[in-house]
Amino acid sequence: MELLLEGKPVAENIKKNFQERIEKLKQENKIPYLAVLGLAGDEASLTYVKRIEKNCDKYGIKFLLKLASSEEEFVKNFNEIKENKEITGIMFQEPLPKKLSNLINEIPPEKDVEGVSINNMGKLFLGDTNINIPCTSKAVIETLDYYNIDLTGKNVVIVGRSNIVGKPLIPQFLNKNATVTVCHSKTKNINEILRNADIVVMAIGKAKFLKNNMIKENAILIDVGINFEDGKMVGDIDFENLKEKAYAITPVPGGIGVVTNSLLIDNIIKSV
Ligand code: NAP
Repeated sequence: MELLLEGKPVAENIKKNFQERIEKLKQENKIPYLAVLGLAGDEASLTYVKRIEKNCDKYGIKFLLKLASSEEEFVKNFNEIKENKEITGIMFQEPLPKKLSNLINEIPPEKDVEGVSINNMGKLFLGDTNINIPCTSKAVIETLDYYNIDLTGKNVVIVGRSNIVGKPLIPQFLNKNATVTVCHSKTKNINEILRNADIVVMAIGKAKFLKNNMIKENAILIDVGINFEDGKMVGDIDFENLKEKAYAITPVPGGIGVVTNSLLIDNIIKSV
């Protein structure tokens, strides 16, 4: 491996003027304020939300977590938050039933700090990047940009077609003139497709799925996956098995996740 694509310097670069931007907003009496809405009882995603709260505290961003014990209560909380003029950014603690997830389409697009609403996603597919873009997908592009990896004409294979990673990556790679293939659980001959890739983005949530015999020499590997094996966090890429053959790899932990967190704060600051 020539290059370890660490997330920390990418995140530092995104965060470098957060403090200054927030101070300036405060002088204008504008305070970023994030509200997170969810259903009680999902401990795993609560850990993620707590990390966001910690990051908000660090930058003086106001934070509110509203957990409902029923779908009706969630809707009530949503309606209250929607009307609250102080709140500048709203996100949902997923997974949620589809009818609750869809409520995100009822808020102004700038308040949708995760960029998952139809409005933001639609604009993204039409080539507009001056909007809130789903942070994990954007983190992939920011990382490649930071390490000066040119995407023009590159054969990019994305594995995973979720609304927060795989799908929003399609227009972003196309905007950078890459040729994009998306694979999923029903894809046939996935190994053959992967062996032709200059760049592979893994986002499936299957520990160490990508192995040495599945890539070509000097491929660039981006690992979005977060899995736990014997209590240890691992990605979708078998890092040890691939590190000699690849040209560059993002580590897990310390890769895309770190960049994602800073991009969310960036969107929250912009929501004011
Ligand atoms: P998801 O909604 O869980 O969907 C998984 C995708 O992987 C689906 O499109 C599925 O195909 C595909 N898939 C599953 N098994 C496969 C296989 N054997 N071969 C090919 N494709 C397969 O995905 P997600 O929410 O994007 O999460 C993916 C991973 O990224 C998870 O590990 C998650 O924890 C992680 N993640 C990380 C961050 C971060 O900041 N680093 C943020 C978000 C998510 P079908 O569509 O056919 O079912």
